[in-house]
Amino acid sequence: MQSISDIFGTLVFNDKVMSERLPSDVYKALKRTIDMGKSLDRSIADIVANAMKDWAIENGATHFTHWFQPMTGITAEKHDSFISPKSNGTAIMEFSGKELIKGEPDASSFPSGGLRATFEARGYTAWDPTSYAFIKDDTLCIPSVFCSYGGQALDKKTPLLRSMEAIRKQAMRILKLFGNEDVTNISTTVGAEQEYFLVDKNVFEKRKDLIFCGRTLLGARPPKGQDLEDHYSGTINPRVKAFMAELDEELWKLGILAKTEHNEVAPSQHELAPIFTTTNIATDHNQLTMEIMKKVALRHGMVCLLHEKPFAGVNGSGKHNNWSLVTNTGVNLLEPGDSPSENAQFLLFLSAVIKAVDKYQDLLRVSVASPGNDHRLGAHEAPPAIVSIFIGDDLQAVLDSIENSCLYTQIDRQEIKFGVHVLPRFFKDTSDRNRTSPFAFTGNKFEFRMVGSSQSIADPNTVINTIVAEELSNFADILEKSENFESDVLNLVRQTIIEHKRIIFNGNNYSDEWVAEAERRGLLNLKSTVDAIPYLIAEKNVKLFTKHKVFSEAELHSRYEILLENYCKVINIEALTLLDMARKEIIPAVTSYIRELSETALAKKQLIPDANCDVEKDLISRLSALCSELYKKAEALNNTLSETKKYDNILDCARYYKDTVLATMQEIRQAADQLELITDKSRWPFPTFSELLFSL
Ligand code: ADP
Ligand code: MG
Repeated sequence: MQSISDIFGTLVFNDKVMSERLPSDVYKALKRTIDMGKSLDRSIADIVANAMKDWAIENGATHFTHWFQPMTGITAEKHDSFISPKSNGTAIMEFSGKELIKGEPDASSFPSGGLRATFEARGYTAWDPTSYAFIKDDTLCIPSVFCSYGGQALDKKTPLLRSMEAIRKQAMRILKLFGNEDVTNISTTVGAEQEYFLVDKNVFEKRKDLIFCGRTLLGARPPKGQDLEDHYSGTINPRVKAFMAELDEELWKLGILAKTEHNEVAPSQHELAPIFTTTNIATDHNQLTMEIMKKVALRHGMVCLLHEKPFAGVNGSGKHNNWSLVTNTGVNLLEPGDSPSENAQFLLFLSAVIKAVDKYQDLLRVSVASPGNDHRLGAHEAPPAIVSIFIGDDLQAVLDSIENSCLYTQIDRQEIKFGVHVLPRFFKDTSDRNRTSPFAFTGNKFEFRMVGSSQSIADPNTVINTIVAEELSNFADILEKSENFESDVLNLVRQTIIEHKRIIFNGNNYSDEWVAEAERRGLLNLKSTVDAIPYLIAEKNVKLFTKHKVFSEAELHSRYEILLENYCKVINIEALTLLDMARKEIIPAVTSYIRELSETALAKKQLIPDANCDVEKDLISRLSALCSELYKKAEALNNTLSETKKYDNILDCARYYKDTVLATMQEIRQAADQLELITDKSRWPFPTFSELLFSL
């Protein structure tokens, strides 16, 4: 076995490769582009392209592609070979700076939410030099953004990069005020912990719902689920272990810092945590991680399920988005410091986050809204649909003392007062005992836990970056005019606590008391995607995004359309799949079981005229009743689907899918699950939850 350092990043055109292969002036120019966000000089593009091509060919690549992230939420690529014909009938391998910088995929096959109709039919991809090119499947992949010819973003990456620029700009203003002369740049960092399920491929292939929808649409609860809690961080099954080892290796080659692999709470559920990196790279890496997880699982005869809720009744899967801010001098701005001034700065950044999360709860909720995540948020397991912040008891005590202008007494330690003494480094160990909070401060970063497992982390991070940029900008507007800096900082912190402390909740977010308490506090509880999405185009949010140049108003409207369209499409596919399973699989299986029971009873009577046939009779009557219920509900579901065509307005249509189609699907499920419990196992048409969850 090779050592990690031998394979790490071998398929990445990273800094080391660049410095070795590019002339030093070209390398320096490219570095400036990467590190400082400066635009790239076209004259060096040809040199970079050629070096990339030579490196890629040496590493087995034959093709190249612009690799981008359209609004489907997954990545897209269109492969071209390096081949270029010569007049003498031969061919050479070529790759120009023009090809590196710009590509023109057929934009019409990607969702645009009306943007193409309003603007330009064509779209183009443009190289994003801030994320390294890499080789996947013998193809040189060039991380790119995807825009319409009018410059409207058609992807998830463009707004993310814009939001990083917005927060960079505003955080720099604050840092300057605190006299951080050496800091020339800041970036946001993210570590995305990824949860997933693994099931045996043979079992998977017997269920249409898993194949078409990625989740089970029906299935009775197994006798044993996660009740014993024996799976969490338990010993890893050898097949899963082999999968994890290969996955790590594949990810390492791509320079992805896969670090921790362990079992999760539900049977067959696992998690991978990478070491954090810059947000845009973390986003690319998470997309690659999901793709490679699926591929590697197949090689091991398994299927990796990334859906938020593959099985009702057991935990769903999320993605914990650990987020922080770091300066180019390596200082984490969410880490309490050693000096009073550092602590004032820390508390100001903390206040900006608290204020941002309170003012833009709706946007955070929208950023994680998907039909899959609806099954998870608020289901007494994942974070609820209510957004709140956990800061822990120690930090709470600090904020309380500032709010009340009194001494802060640290438990068992000396008294300290803000602005005079030092905030000791105490958070890391004592905080983060709360696993139920949707937005938890964990000592030196915030962990946003509402993100769905299958989702791109681009949207949530675009929102976090922008809303924090907005509050930093508001603070900077005040402080830049300040005559008494220290006391104005303290006042801003105090004012923020007073005005926004309703968003802080350190208790159990899964409890019913919290739902009631949150309502009293006036916090939003947007239970479904359809409830959440309209907030995306609320006036205050349009103002926010346009002010920071993250989205234009047209882009926001297009996203609103796409999200709702996607919601309708997903529920429609699920409904059709459920209908198919009910009509073509369950009803035939149950009726044939009924026939067998009838034949058994008749045969018994023939043999022994006064034989007891109570069991057959009772089963037949229960099965018949449930089967007829299932049949009726299936007809009803079919009718609801025809009704959907009547809606011109996409929001009304989505509401109908949520309130009527989904509700009818739930009724079908109830009948089907009861049938499963009393039908002959050998006749039940697909694997049960027990077989799925314990398939490995
Ligand atoms: P734990 O959750 O056990 O406390 P860690 O705090 O080490 O573990 O990390 C959890 C995740 O948070 C990892 O993906 C890690 O890389 C990431 N992380 C740690 N520090 C930061 C940071 N400053 N910014 C963003 N992510 C971070
Ligand atoms: Mg975590």
